[in-house]
Amino acid sequence: MSEWYADGLRFECTSCGNCCSGPPGAVWMSDDESRALAERFGLPLAVFLEKYARKLGTRWSLNEVSVGMSGGRRGFDCVFLDRTKVPGKALCSVYESRPTQCRTWPFWSENLDSEQIWENVKRVTPCPGMGAGQLHTFVEICIKRDTDRHAGATPTLHPPEPDER
Ligand code: SF4
Ligand code: SF4
Repeated sequence: MSEWYADGLRFECTSCGNCCSGPPGAVWMSDDESRALAERFGLPLAVFLEKYARKLGTRWSLNEVSVGMSGGRRGFDCVFLDRTKVPGKALCSVYESRPTQCRTWPFWSENLDSEQIWENVKRVTPCPGMGAGQLHTFVEICIKRDTDRHAGATPTLHPPEPDER
């Protein structure tokens, strides 16, 4: 049976930041991704995790910061979302080192289960880049889908210990 996205899907990010913000969520990091981010900041791994991440169950997620939203509501930005550098844009301040979860959005397997789910994710996020701009081929989509599916599946990092700093 062919997938509903066999002819590819359009997606081009507008840097609105919506997928890095909103209700409380998780930005999962594999061990290698955590180490790469720690290196980027010149920090020992344990210090990086304590400052920028939290453990949820057995896995590490980046922290979120509470921000004001329209209508007086509160939302949660990824700790690395930068809303100040470029007016009107929300950019990833660690773009080259962002976790796989971020690199593969919006082509996550759960978003691709059906066209209806894809359209719903597009509406709820909301992600103005989904369905617009560059056409991504079926193969490109499958690579991202399967890369995300396996990312961070076997976490081994432990909470920071004082002697690791
Ligand atoms: S919600 Fe979509 S358009 Fe906005 S930053 Fe995320 S990927 Fe880009
Ligand atoms: S690491 Fe960057 S791309 Fe990923 S959620 Fe945070 S700000 Fe967004």
